[in-house]
Amino acid sequence: MGNSVKKGKVVIANENQVKSLRLYKAAVGDQDVRKPQIRSYKIDEKELRTYGTKKERSPLDTNIQQFICSNEVVIFSKTTCENCAKVKDHFDELNIPYFAVELDLINNGQSLEKELMETMETALPSVFVKEKLIGDYSDIVQLTKEGLFQKLLEGKEDKPKEDRYDYDLIVIGGGSGGLAASKEAANYGKKVLVLDYVTPSPSGTTWGLGGTCVNVGCIPKKLMHQAALLRQALKDSSKYGWKIEDNVEHNWDVMTDSIQNYIGSLNWNYRLGLVQNKVKYENGYGEFVEPHKIKSTNRKGKVKFFTAEKFLIATGERPRYLGIPGDKEYCITSDDLFSLPYCPGKTLVVGASYVALECAGFLAGLGLDVTVMVRSILLRGFDQQMAEKIGEHMEEHGVKFIKHFVPTKIEQIEAGTPGKLKVTSQSTDGTEITEEYNTVLLAIGRDACTRTIGLDIPGVKINEKTGKIPVNDEEQTNVPHVYAIGDVLEGKLELTPVAIQAGRLLARRLYGNSTLKCDYINVPTTVFTPLEYGACGLSEENAILKYGEENIEVYHSYFWPLEWTVPSRDNNKCYAKVICNIKDNERVVGFHVLAPNAGEITQGFAAAIKCGVTKEQLDCTIGIHPVCAEIFTTLSVTKRSGGDIMQAGC
Ligand code: FAD
Ligand code: NAP
Repeated sequence: MGNSVKKGKVVIANENQVKSLRLYKAAVGDQDVRKPQIRSYKIDEKELRTYGTKKERSPLDTNIQQFICSNEVVIFSKTTCENCAKVKDHFDELNIPYFAVELDLINNGQSLEKELMETMETALPSVFVKEKLIGDYSDIVQLTKEGLFQKLLEGKEDKPKEDRYDYDLIVIGGGSGGLAASKEAANYGKKVLVLDYVTPSPSGTTWGLGGTCVNVGCIPKKLMHQAALLRQALKDSSKYGWKIEDNVEHNWDVMTDSIQNYIGSLNWNYRLGLVQNKVKYENGYGEFVEPHKIKSTNRKGKVKFFTAEKFLIATGERPRYLGIPGDKEYCITSDDLFSLPYCPGKTLVVGASYVALECAGFLAGLGLDVTVMVRSILLRGFDQQMAEKIGEHMEEHGVKFIKHFVPTKIEQIEAGTPGKLKVTSQSTDGTEITEEYNTVLLAIGRDACTRTIGLDIPGVKINEKTGKIPVNDEEQTNVPHVYAIGDVLEGKLELTPVAIQAGRLLARRLYGNSTLKCDYINVPTTVFTPLEYGACGLSEENAILKYGEENIEVYHSYFWPLEWTVPSRDNNKCYAKVICNIKDNERVVGFHVLAPNAGEITQGFAAAIKCGVTKEQLDCTIGIHPVCAEIFTTLSVTKRSGGDIMQAGC
């Protein structure tokens, strides 16, 4: 036991003690200043996650290493931390001497805490015994209960059983689905590794932990949509008495900086979440090298290998390119847009689905000159009446559409930020047009990241055409120990909450005796175009296909949000529609709304649809006045009747 340890007493390490430790090490010579060497220590499989199991650790902060090497029992603690106090009390009761480093009382405490968390992936209190990371308060209590802590102190610990695998579960992909699944599995005491690696886009854009949604999807998209809505609000505000300067301008850099700062905080929180949940994280590209073994390659090319009993593929998708001259050289995608270091200027958006229309919508809303090039129809797969209304509204608000054309060549006329590009396009009948833009944003779909991760090694089948992975209703691939969730799945919705739900439920089934499966039916969604579109259930086309036109009743109405009446804009542009199955008591099988905050409206009705709401129940529901959603409690005109659905006001 080192000099500075007093039996059963908390010893606060201060700067002098740290200095004296350094002097002590200096005195005994370099040889004794041991290199970081936190050995793997295992007792039984159940306890694996509580130990420092990573065999190669990055060098620890020298101070931390000195504390750990010089004392048999070290507690990194804070005087304000409840669990830290509990650990110390626990050791006092057991009469175990320890060395407590109170990080809030020493000058470099904050940096030591950060180091502990980043390098050792442990949160406070953090207990080391004989240089081994043991864990936190609950781990100590559990070990004591099983008599293992005392054995460890006495140096008589049971030798670890030779484990077959390093991990219970390895998750490839730290996005919405992968993170949710890995944390849930770790909560069941499983030893989990999650690998996340972002391959830079052709333009060189890269980002942090969390996957598409947080970095280059839902989050920055919704925030830019909000930036655009604020411009509309500014316009409306004069009618509400606000005096706004005529020369109000938008600053792209300020917007992207604010959004990227927020995303940075989310990246950090995800990292912290993994540490807190004891999920091991590797920032490396994962690929199978054996059926139960993967190779992880980090951005410096350093390679590590890990084995696991089970694997979860959650690698998501990346934007597709056109495969025409100049596309990868000069075009950007949604992967680049949200952190673009300059305002894109006059923009051509290629594609006509979610990503294309949302991006075109907010870029136009920010005041840019925006054109959408549509190959066939808007929002394939969605209710086409709603899609057309979205298109009309966007056109009325300044977005230009070039229909039935596709680009064939992109040439750079001028380099710059933005530069100038010449786009040659061809229509379905062969007509060619050219036009100049500052930026071309490709939003023509996304490809599953499944072709370069060695899936053939365990023998996981993918759809060769789409790259998507077929799974059974338990997200299990054709190879029993390999599972898949999220955007890589064949025939499932590519939405964040879907990936999260599937990941959580999978972990509960695998490790928590649950049988609950992810319900992919009636998943609500919202397209964040300038006029938002919320939907749940069947489109009118699909309802007709499924039940027959004579067996469905469509109730609908235009409406005018009260807030828009005073600025006198967009009268009768909002629209509500419910599709009911006549033969099943007019049960609602499709719900569609075009309105401000359509997502907020749709979320609640989705719960009702999940409960099997009927038209009669909607009619019996008392509305909230004056809100947009109340329209769904008063729908009385059927489409079949051809009755008037225009509204004069609320
Ligand atoms: P991802 O979140 O994409 O995560 C996969 C992760 O795995 C990524 O970090 C990737 O870099 C990593 N990876 C890939 N290969 C490897 C490998 N071999 N090794 C290690 N790591 C790897 N959904 C909504 O619900 N609402 C929205 O408003 C919405 N808006 C969107 C807007 C845009 C512009 C886009 C593109 C998507 C949007 N989505 C939205 C869809 C949503 O982002 C995805 O459905 C969701 O992120 C899918 O989660 P995932 O876990 O399957 O994959
Ligand atoms: P998508 O839904 O696959 O749509 C691709 C679009 O690009 C279609 O309009 C398609 O036209 C067009 N296209 C494809 N190839 C083309 C080509 N060679 N030339 C010109 N146009 C071409 O892709 P996405 O918009 O990227 O969305 C991907 C997924 O992300 C969605 O399915 C969605 O689940 C998710 N997402 C969700 C949200 C949200 O929840 N708000 C937002 C964004 C994305 P055709 O119709 O002619 O094929």
